[in-house]
Order: sequence, then C-alpha cells, then structure tokens
Amino acid sequence: MKPSVFNVRVPFEARGDVFLMNTLTDGQLLVSSDVAALLDRYAGAPDSESPSETQDDVSEEERDAVELLREHGFLVESREADRRALDDYMAAARGDASRLNVTVLTTLQCNFACGYCYQGDRDDYNRFADKMTLETAARVADWIADRLDVVRPEQLVLTFFGGEPLLNLPVMYDLAERMWQAALARGVTLHITIITNGLLLTPEVVDRLVPYGLYSVKVTLDGDRDVHNRMRPLRGGQGTFDRIIQNVRQIAGRVKVGIGGNFDETSVDSYPALLDFLMEQPFVDSIVKVNFKPILRTGPAMPKGVLPLLPVDASGKPLNGTCLTSVGAGGGTACDTCAFLDDKMSLLRHETKRRGLPTPDGIHGGPCQVHHKHAYTIGPDGSLYGCPGFTGERAQSVGHIDGRTDSWRERNRDRFERLQPWDQCGDCAFIPVCAGGCLVASHTQLGDMNAPTCHKASFESALISLAQEVAGVSGG
Ligand code: SF4
Ligand code: SF4
Repeated sequence: MKPSVFNVRVPFEARGDVFLMNTLTDGQLLVSSDVAALLDRYAGAPDSESPSETQDDVSEEERDAVELLREHGFLVESREADRRALDDYMAAARGDASRLNVTVLTTLQCNFACGYCYQGDRDDYNRFADKMTLETAARVADWIADRLDVVRPEQLVLTFFGGEPLLNLPVMYDLAERMWQAALARGVTLHITIITNGLLLTPEVVDRLVPYGLYSVKVTLDGDRDVHNRMRPLRGGQGTFDRIIQNVRQIAGRVKVGIGGNFDETSVDSYPALLDFLMEQPFVDSIVKVNFKPILRTGPAMPKGVLPLLPVDASGKPLNGTCLTSVGAGGGTACDTCAFLDDKMSLLRHETKRRGLPTPDGIHGGPCQVHHKHAYTIGPDGSLYGCPGFTGERAQSVGHIDGRTDSWRERNRDRFERLQPWDQCGDCAFIPVCAGGCLVASHTQLGDMNAPTCHKASFESALISLAQEVAGVSGG
C-alpha cells in the first residue's frame, strides 16, 4: 500500500496530534503524530508491499491504525489505483444526474454603475444590452423541460442572474411558473435562486415567486455603508446601501438570504464593520451564506493581496455583458465554487466565522460547474455557455436552446468537454477540490483554458483554518 497522493495534513505540534484530510474521499481524521508517521513509513514501501506485512513486531494498535487509514482512503493499493480513483471521481462529478443546474440571464442590462464594471448604467450601454423576450423565455422553458425528461434529476436548481435580473420581471415570473409546472409534473424538486444587486427587491417580487419554489436571494454588499456606496453607486453617484438593506429587511423571513461582496485593496478593511452591521440586523438569522471575494481588476498593476484576474479576453478586449461580480476566481455569486482565497480572503473568512455567520470553508467546492455535464448557463438570446463566467463572450457559446448546429459552437462544446487542466497539476493533493482552477481565469489570464490557474496557497490556508476548527484550536 501507498499513502494517497490526495492526503494533506496539518500538525498541531504542541498537542502531539495531526489533522489528516484526503481531498478525494473527504476523509478527515484527527490522529496522534504516531499514526500520521505511519503514512510516512508506507511512503517508502514499494507498491503493494505493506511494512506491517514485512514486520513481525507490529502491534494490534498499529494494525487498527492502518485499517483506519485504509478505510478513509489515506492508504491506497498503489499510485495507479489512486489515479484511477481520481478519474472515476471526476467522471462521476461530471455525469452527476441527481441535479439539473440551470442559470438564466434574463438581461444584461443593469441599474448600477459599479466602478469595477465596464458595463452597467453608463453611457448608452443599457440601450443595446441584450434582454430576454417572453418568446425566448417560453423556448427556454421547453428546453429545460426537455432536459428534465432526458436527465431525470431529483432536483432542478434554477438561478436567475444578469446584468440585473429584476430588470426583466415578466421573464422571471413567466419562467418560474413554467418551470414550477414542469417540475411538478415530473416529481422534481425546484429550487429557485435570484442573484441581484438588491435595489428592486421587494416583498411583492418574493411573494410572487415563493409559491413557484423561490428558495434564496443573494445580494451583493461591497463593504460597509460608505465603502459600498462608493463601490456600487447609481448612475448619478447616489449610494445604494440603505435601500438594499431596507429591502432585505422587508423580504427576510419570506426567503433565505445570501450575502456576497467583492473587495479590493481599498475596500477590504471595511468588511469587518459590514459583518458587525449584519450581526445587528433583524434578518441575521435568515442569512444562509456570506461569501466575499476579490474584485476583478482592469489595470495592469495588481495591488498586493488581490488576485490578478482580468476581465478581458485573450486578445485583451473587455468581456462584455455578464455582471462582473460573477466571473471566475474573482467573482462574487453566480459561481460560488471558485473560492480561491488569498490572505485577505482567509482573513475575511475568519472574521465571518468568528461572528457565527455561515461561510464556505474554502476547500469543499470543486470540481466547479464548468466540469458538470448537467449544469447549463443560458444567455438572454438562448445561447448556451459552459458556466456563468463565460456568458460575456458570445464566441464561447457551446450551443443554443433551439438546437442550431453552428460549427463554431460545436467546436466550443467539444473543447469544453475535453478540458482537463488538472492534467498539468502533477501530484497536487488538491486536484479533487480544485480541478486546476477557474477556466475563466485560465482563459483571461493565460489565453488557454486547459492551463491551470493555481492558488494553492489559498487552499493551504483554508485547510489550516478547517483543521483548527476540527481540532477546536483557535486560529489567528
Ligand atoms: S470556470 Fe468554474 S470556477 Fe470559473 S467561473 Fe466558471 S464555474 Fe466558476
Ligand atoms: S491549480 Fe494548483 S492547487 Fe489547483 S489542482 Fe492545480 S496545482 Fe493544485
């Protein structure tokens, strides 16, 4: 036997124990350093030869420890078996049919003029930005119903996104009702989520959608009141914080609330104050997730502590259309998988957890949506995309709901299906949860979707935080 490539460990030297995790099996053990040292002994043994098989003086205790390690996937038959298990795991994740995940962009228009976004309510952008028609919405509903018949999932997760999805209420209402009927007729559970800037969020909107399966609403707050108002103003510069909070107060209790936030080096220090503010709100118990991420930057000079993810395509042109709060590793909400944490993210996660607010642990997340066969993103014109992060670039469309067979879309689809950036990641222990990083980041930063964008240090720091939590050790 051999130690699995996917073992990671965090030693607590003063206590003499070690947190072990296997990222493939999600096995997690807090063991004595003697047990962890067993793994090192196996590391030196030839494949399929067990040290205990070659030693007569092995205690019963040690045999039990070996059995425990084997049971949780820390010891495997051979390197080849480990690799095969990874392939099986990725294939299972890809083919998982228990859930059909569909993100629909009802419009690319937006009523905010965020400083870090090229689009939004400035100049004549909204005049030309795509908006889904009711006719397209009806065809989207038929297409999703067809997928329900083919995939036969237990659950349909429908996410409304944009632009600002609440700027196209007729389409949202229409699609929600149609999908509710389709899900009901097939015995499928429907969960609807809206990702919104929160400005137009009202009890009327929520009450209209709850009977059709509205489960949660995610809003973005980019720091405390002053900082948010600077980061996410209206066209005329007016702040939006008070109105959003007022709206969340009114809808909380009717539906779950998620809070996202995009920070940069000028705003990150205001987040603890935002967290304190949230803790004082009557809706604090309705918050199901808090997740802050670094902002996408447009300039060449990356400030320290901010991930250098550029919202441009490989030729340097800005990505168009999709709200930039969603895109890639720097994204905010549509994709919660890309939780690549730099130091600031680790700090914010710690601050969030310290206050008892729910937040992703930074390890459990991947492989992300783009690697799932039954996860779809649909643009306002019915174009299909690999994930929400690619919707700003129509040239990356992988199909269309009307089934048209453009050769360029077919080529894209084939390419997306074959993408395996983790093939270049060697023996990295984080492959099962990272899968080589965000493909949008690979595309925008490296011009190659099949090249990994690595934020391993972020996984390592998230691991330490998880280990401290499991071990009951207070972190810094
Ligand atoms: S490639 Fe994956 S991590 Fe990146 S935006 Fe798409 S779903 Fe998120
Ligand atoms: S991108 Fe980095 S952290 Fe992710 S699997 Fe590859 S080497 Fe590991």
